[in-house]
Amino acid sequence: MQIMLCAISNIQSGNCSEDCKFCNQSGFVNTKIQKYPRKDIEEIVLEARVAKKNHALGFCLVTAGLGLDDDKLEYVCEATRAVKKAEPNLMIIACNGLASYEQLCELKKAGCFSYNHNLESSREFYPQICSTHSWDSRFETNLNAKRAELMLCCGGIYGLGESEADRKSFRASLKELKPFTSPINFFIANEHLPLNPPPLSADEALNIISDSKKELGDTHIMIAGGRERVLKERQYEVFERGASAVVIGDYLTTKGEEPSTDIENLKKRGFSFATECH
Ligand code: SF4
Repeated sequence: MQIMLCAISNIQSGNCSEDCKFCNQSGFVNTKIQKYPRKDIEEIVLEARVAKKNHALGFCLVTAGLGLDDDKLEYVCEATRAVKKAEPNLMIIACNGLASYEQLCELKKAGCFSYNHNLESSREFYPQICSTHSWDSRFETNLNAKRAELMLCCGGIYGLGESEADRKSFRASLKELKPFTSPINFFIANEHLPLNPPPLSADEALNIISDSKKELGDTHIMIAGGRERVLKERQYEVFERGASAVVIGDYLTTKGEEPSTDIENLKKRGFSFATECH
């Protein structure tokens, strides 16, 4: 089986104006993370080269914050152009919060393949995890990305204390958007974050993956943050449950598996790595 690997570069980290209760980059929490306004373009390109060596097909440029302004848009476009020049076969995914149709057209013009903007959870549950912007504004950004003819990468995070009805409603909304890829994150609590729900079990997490695949059909289910901590030795079972993509390397603010360990383990299990999106 061929799977897609995707690497993340956190190109602008922390001090976010928003109060998403699951996020260590929110300016409302005090988690000790690295915070910086902009990563150097050269450093981003170096990371992209490493990602390519690690068989990544996707390379995601993530900025913290509510959305794009002119400056940030130009910076993401510049980073995109630089990475495409160095590694033309990497597919760039921009992840920069709320965005207008016009801004998304600019990203596409710069060479972005896809836009990632997660709905995070259900419309009904969202006010319990964020009060500074609306779920509807997130949904609208996804519609804008589709209109701008960017491939859509849209998913969210489980284990925030949402109900089964919330999970169903969330997936019904994702189904409406028909994303190309849908990342699934599993929440990991820490003492700085205001949420402290019971942790997901490995069985529950694997069932979430099966349910997502059942409901989202052709969408590639991508397993992202929390994989190692929640699934532990069962982490490679995600592909039996319908996942076809996985994030390799570090996440935005937490360590991931060593890419070389993942690659070795995946090869041992007979997986190969996609070199184009289909
Ligand atoms: S999820 Fe995004 S918008 Fe929300 S606090 Fe984190 S960086 Fe900010």
